[in-house]
Amino acid sequence: MTERAGWQRTHTCGALRASDEGSQVVLNGWVAARRDHGGIYFLDLRDRYGVTQVVLAEEVAGDLKLAPEDVLCVRGTVRKREERNINPNRETGEVELVAESVEMLSGSKLPPFEIIDDLDTGVELRLKHRFLDLRRAPLQQNLVHRSRFINAMRRAFEAQDFVEVETPILTKATPEGARDYLVPSRVHPGEFYALPQSPQIFKQLLMVSGLDRYFQVARCFRDEDLRADRQPEFTQLDMEMSFVEEEDVFASWEQVLIDTFKDSMGYDVPTPIPRMPYKEAMERFGIDKPDLRFEMELVALDDWARASDFQVFSGAVEAGGRVMGLTVKEGGSLSRKEITALEDVVKTYGAKGLAFWKPALDGGAGPLARFVPEGGAQELMELLGATEGDLCLFVADPRERVVQRSLGELRVHLGKQLGLTEPSEFRFLWVTHFPLFEWDDEAGRWFSTHHPFTAPADWELGGGGFDLSDPDSPIGDQMSRSYDLVMNGWELGSGSVRIHRADVQQRVFEVLGIGEEEQRQKFGFLLDALSYGAPPHAGFAVGLDRLVALTLGMDNIRDVIAFPKTASATDLMCDAPSTVEAYQLEDVHIDVSARAKAALEEAQSSPEASS
Ligand code: ASP
Repeated sequence: MTERAGWQRTHTCGALRASDEGSQVVLNGWVAARRDHGGIYFLDLRDRYGVTQVVLAEEVAGDLKLAPEDVLCVRGTVRKREERNINPNRETGEVELVAESVEMLSGSKLPPFEIIDDLDTGVELRLKHRFLDLRRAPLQQNLVHRSRFINAMRRAFEAQDFVEVETPILTKATPEGARDYLVPSRVHPGEFYALPQSPQIFKQLLMVSGLDRYFQVARCFRDEDLRADRQPEFTQLDMEMSFVEEEDVFASWEQVLIDTFKDSMGYDVPTPIPRMPYKEAMERFGIDKPDLRFEMELVALDDWARASDFQVFSGAVEAGGRVMGLTVKEGGSLSRKEITALEDVVKTYGAKGLAFWKPALDGGAGPLARFVPEGGAQELMELLGATEGDLCLFVADPRERVVQRSLGELRVHLGKQLGLTEPSEFRFLWVTHFPLFEWDDEAGRWFSTHHPFTAPADWELGGGGFDLSDPDSPIGDQMSRSYDLVMNGWELGSGSVRIHRADVQQRVFEVLGIGEEEQRQKFGFLLDALSYGAPPHAGFAVGLDRLVALTLGMDNIRDVIAFPKTASATDLMCDAPSTVEAYQLEDVHIDVSARAKAALEEAQSSPEASS
């Protein structure tokens, strides 16, 4: 054992208990609070493990001026507190340390905000001084939980014989649908590396190499115009396995989730995790990531609507659209004003309005009541699973997507509003059978719904020969072998069975408008690998930042990332990105354009330059 220097702690600030009474100890920590009781100071000394009260007599303190966040070494004797002074909210609350000497290890300036648990300070100030923000117990606990959770996951994969392999950060573009971060090469003028959007191609190559089962806690980089709560760099638990199909991947993950939640949180994941085809999810929940913690499913009312006198309903169905409804149990007490607020929700998603009905056997109330035929209330109530006292809500539109989406989002909204989403319950779901391609009007071409390496359900892709410039081409009906894992209404990640045949991979590239030359240039090594005996393989990746945040009952991922960036991809603490020296640009053969220089000058002269 190494010898302890005199100033070094014998205990952490969370360790001392009544049973330590009389012990001579040394504590190291930060001054969290200081109370002056005329000749005696009471100090709270803090570290990652807790807080211990120190009693410091004036004569022991001497000339020492103590300020918040100073780092101290305190030597002394543990004393039991009198009954009335016991602090039941602290693990060390039964004792205090009577200081015999105190030494300043490092002084602190006055911090820009107080280091307290429930800090109510602007996020920018916190991010600028993130090292101080991270001194707060809630954030430290988040990082500790994150570490425990990820390590439990690592153990779970290792238990299944997966091998952790690190793949390159300086690499070539992997298309996951976002823009690449580029790094200029010094030794190859005019050439660039891309930071990985995911380790996708490398993990497939590892399968070609015969590694059989791979995983990695992988950092990924995607240059997107950030929506709130996205980060330009984020962490995935990425995995891939050989000689498998969808069900094998599901089984493997199910065990990993069982082990990880049990091990790191003592939580029993409800299994088996159900599977649901994408179409069914849209029909029952209106979105492809349903929150299964509550019911309130969508109900198709097309047949009922077709026969109804309500022009808006029958017209929507005749125009090839849909009419759907949902029932809010005991929602009959919602006021007109509250229902109008719900209408605003569906309007955000393109619906023209929200019809409502307060069901009752005598015909009920609300605008829809007069369209319920004489004696027909019971039938409609049965369709909607409604009883008296409930509230039924309806959307009709010629566009199915609008009907499903707006009601789906309304369901999510109501789930939160009515307190149906218990944050400590975790309900998983595999969503399967997604379409292989999606048409993009703006680009005028097909894109992969997942990514270009996803296997089609039909290896022959319908025999081909389609007009790929036609948005209604039957290529749009091709289904993929991709799947998503959903938890509590969040998409945690996606994966797929992969294309392991070079000819099929080439045909998919063709559909995506990637010509032969571009295929060679961008993916030549992959096509090559697929022609040297590639095993059938499949994989998956889960976004760890989101998953860790949700396991802590948090919606925001920022507070489970040690050094996150803002919504404009800025690190406020180290001021990145930033300009570099002219010689550095020269080294990497970069000329900053006049337009960029002008933008830079403008940004630097604006008062919000740093955010
Ligand atoms: N590379 C995919 C992603 O990042 C995951 C996968 O297909 O395994 O979403």
